[in-house]
Amino acid sequence: MQTPIPLSLYDLTCEQLAHQLAEWGEPAFRARQVWHWLYQRLASSIDEMTDLPRPLRDRLKQTYVLGRMTLVTEQHSSDGWTRKWLFRLADGSEIETVLMEYDGLRRTACVSSQAGCAMGCSFCATGQMGFLRNLRSGEIVEQALWAARALRDKTHGNERLSNLVLMGMGEPFANYNNVMEAARRLMTPEHEGGFGLGARKITLSTVGLVAGIRRFAEEAAQINLAVSLHAATDALRDQLVPINRRYPLRELTAATRDYLRKTNRRVSYEWALIDGVNDTVEQARALVELVRQTNPRAGVNLVHVNLIPLNPTSGYDGHASRRARIHRFRDVLTQADIPNTLRIRRGIDINAGCGQLKAKTAQTGLENQTGG
Ligand code: SAH
Ligand code: SF4
Repeated sequence: MQTPIPLSLYDLTCEQLAHQLAEWGEPAFRARQVWHWLYQRLASSIDEMTDLPRPLRDRLKQTYVLGRMTLVTEQHSSDGWTRKWLFRLADGSEIETVLMEYDGLRRTACVSSQAGCAMGCSFCATGQMGFLRNLRSGEIVEQALWAARALRDKTHGNERLSNLVLMGMGEPFANYNNVMEAARRLMTPEHEGGFGLGARKITLSTVGLVAGIRRFAEEAAQINLAVSLHAATDALRDQLVPINRRYPLRELTAATRDYLRKTNRRVSYEWALIDGVNDTVEQARALVELVRQTNPRAGVNLVHVNLIPLNPTSGYDGHASRRARIHRFRDVLTQADIPNTLRIRRGIDINAGCGQLKAKTAQTGLENQTGG
């Protein structure tokens, strides 16, 4: 689609905004004022910014838009703790955002980094739909602010978004600059009028783009890293995660080890448990070995394994592992002293898995309906 994408205020860094306002002859404090409306008041329109002089508001509106996403569908899980939105962007492409409130005190937004994804993981609904385009930094920011606003309104201002995960549609390291820009913008401290999200509250999940992991290791940011492993032998990973043919496990674990060595942080390996495919004792043992290879020093473990029973998708035959097999798999990890968590995907009734709402809407033509 060729529709040009208008420039949004969310695309601007604080410096760019200040520069623009200075060019218009505005006093220096205006940038902070606008930033405050965007990131603390969570304004949903430029008209809301009532303490700006009217001519400035008009000029902002002539030059920028605020939001560029229109809501297509909103769904609530039956337990009420997960909300999922499908948005249409200015050029017609569609993305998903999820808000999760079930995890203790955490209030987590899961945002997309691309419309679609080029990585083609066989079990993933986003992979099955292919790649459309990279999101702009402002489109990533806008999803986080949407979730923050929805949470604020639902709780009458009592609750704030506490965590952000880049685990929606797309591969964050395939859109590296825009993702990091968006993260930095959301991390602007509160005393500077910003949203004030701590780097340690952000988690970025990669399919294993080695070049991205190496670049990420050089950033001084404290953002958490998750690596979607799903298989511990190249033969199996080649099938599930085709990018493994380009970045095989030996290179992936070496890059992850170098990241750990350099940053002294932790990493999590993500593993979607697929019945009879990657939930075997052999795979669990191979995973133990990979974790050993990943750790930079003997006797210290910096790797956590997150196990997620597969969310079924229409383009893939596999099923979630059964309970007994999950137990057996976990036992192998636990006996090897590898910390692991079984993540039960809440919101499964609203297809709150990667790319799944979009896929379902495309199938059924369902639009503008609420409810799971
Ligand atoms: N592209 C990145 C981040 C988005 S996907 C990545 O692959 O890491 C977020 C997570 O959801 C990844 O761990 C991915 O493997 C997982 N995932 C995708 N489809 C899934 C499914 N059908 N069931 C369970 N997990 C899935
Ligand atoms: Fe892309 Fe991640 Fe889905 Fe793989 S799992 S297709 S990398 S979004």
